[in-house]
Amino acid sequence: MIKPILEKNVITDRALCSWVRCKRKAWLDLNEQSDKKIWSAHRALQLEHQYKSLFAFSNKISDRGLEAFKKGAQVVVGVRLKGISPNGSSLEAHPQLLQKIKGQSCWGNFSYIPVLVRQGRRLKREHRLSIALWGYLLEQLQQKTVNHGLVISLTKKKLEIEEMILTKQVKNELFDALKRLNKDISKNNQPGLTSDRKKCNLCCWKKVCDEKANQEGDLSEVSGIGAKRREFLHQIGINNITQLALTNKDYLARKFKPYSQQNVNISDSLIRQARVQKNLSAERVSTKMVLPELKSAKEILLYDIESDPDENHDFLHGFLYLKRNKYEEWSLVAAEYQPILNLKAGCEEILWGKIKSKINSSENFPILHYGETEYLSIYNLAKNQGENENELNILKLRFIDIHARLKEGWVLPVENYTLKSIAKWLNFKWTKNSTNGAKALLWWRQWGKSISEGKENSNKLKWILEYNKDDCIATWEIAKWILSQN
Ligand code: SF4
Repeated sequence: MIKPILEKNVITDRALCSWVRCKRKAWLDLNEQSDKKIWSAHRALQLEHQYKSLFAFSNKISDRGLEAFKKGAQVVVGVRLKGISPNGSSLEAHPQLLQKIKGQSCWGNFSYIPVLVRQGRRLKREHRLSIALWGYLLEQLQQKTVNHGLVISLTKKKLEIEEMILTKQVKNELFDALKRLNKDISKNNQPGLTSDRKKCNLCCWKKVCDEKANQEGDLSEVSGIGAKRREFLHQIGINNITQLALTNKDYLARKFKPYSQQNVNISDSLIRQARVQKNLSAERVSTKMVLPELKSAKEILLYDIESDPDENHDFLHGFLYLKRNKYEEWSLVAAEYQPILNLKAGCEEILWGKIKSKINSSENFPILHYGETEYLSIYNLAKNQGENENELNILKLRFIDIHARLKEGWVLPVENYTLKSIAKWLNFKWTKNSTNGAKALLWWRQWGKSISEGKENSNKLKWILEYNKDDCIATWEIAKWILSQN
């Protein structure tokens, strides 16, 4: 049997972070077999950011372990801190980095404070409690109070460094959290799914929890139901998809009324979505022709971008050129994939020149994309390069958002309307299994690193292009399905 991720009877900083994110995650980390976890590219990107931030902060990461404290190293990594919580639980933690400061400790006239890398823009509860736990255990080791820690983050512009004071209130919050965490992970039954299922997209237990949600017909599986709506529906006695599908729309609208008009307005569509998911069959909600532009078109471009959100950089603009064959049928066989790489942010003039010549290579043919990101990226690029209102308006008319058109015309038996979900429902398969935008970004960074180290790994670039081309084809498969329904 594959062992669980965490050791029983010891509360670690890792368990604490998991518990703050989702109580169920902490329980699964401790009790579930680790081979049921899925690898997440987000985690790899986080570790990369952590490493770069720590390196920028210390310039070197070399002094490791307890010996480094004794010799008074400036920064120390690789230390395992152990101790006991006020209510007697065994604790263990691996601080990311400890920095030397002035102040008498058991090693001499210096002591240490914990340093934590912040992921994201804001300091979250998991950061606050981790640093408080490291400070608490460090105090026991160095025999000197830890009054503060540092929170760092390397952004595009600079290394941000923020001091976090370990007040009595923060320490009490930590002790309370440790007590509750201990109670939760000791339970025999696994806790329920988190109410905010958006968190699940980044979680290693997603597959396990998706299966459970699916089996139970959990309301979070219904497109349009987030944490608050799910909670509200539970309060009025609607606990699963079947119950929602059978609810009367006037009854639900009446119940929603005291909360918000927005909820009242969508009560009918929530019931319809639940019904479609329960019956596993699509429903058409408009008889309007959904893609009239393609009726007379002879050629089109499918368009998809890959981005680095941290750098605000669209590094790949992928185009798939598609035309009708001699039988007037759209043919993927002769489609040409035409990627434009944008190697460095700040070269927008050259980039816009290349894209403009591509999209104007034939007269005003439609450009199909999935979601609004692609159009907004091109629109902003064109505007920043001084295109006039007339050009921008023409551009707007040529871009067709397949996601918006699909939602205008149909309710589908899917949990969400992302490109991946819809294409999967149509049985489309990406060349590489479980690839996503985060993985493409990871490959992009790895490819860049391999070049800077003088040993280019061209496979990474090949996989990015392959993935991007597949996204274009998936967009086409959805458009083709829409056309087949007209
Ligand atoms: S997948 Fe979601 S519900 Fe499951 S453990 Fe992770 S965050 Fe919690």
